[in-house]
Amino acid sequence: MLLHCNHCNTTAEVKIDRKTETPICLTCNKEVTNLSSFIVNTMKSQKDFLEKKKEAFAFHCDTCKEVHGGNLSANKQYVACTICGKKMNVSAHMLSTMKMMDKKS
Ligand SMILES: [Zn+2]
Ligand SMILES: [Zn+2]
Repeated sequence: MLLHCNHCNTTAEVKIDRKTETPICLTCNKEVTNLSSFIVNTMKSQKDFLEKKKEAFAFHCDTCKEVHGGNLSANKQYVACTICGKKMNVSAHMLSTMKMMDKKS
């Protein structure tokens, strides 16, 4: 939703962070604190959530027994489930693709 951000002092795209349920300005990445709870609740009901770019890859997690997003582990040796943090069953080719993407960002 386009709203006035009290940090940039401009009209910017604002989305709700799923974890903290706070409105975040996409221009400065800060929490917008000048919004009424009515606006915030409207955005939540419209599912105007901040989508994390890193969750572009999704795999079947053997631990959760569901498909979840996967991120490279800190040592970049395996792909970790974004929900449970356990190692996911990902092919070596996929792992190297993710390493390449990781370098670019
Ligand atoms: Zn801002
Ligand atoms: Zn999992």
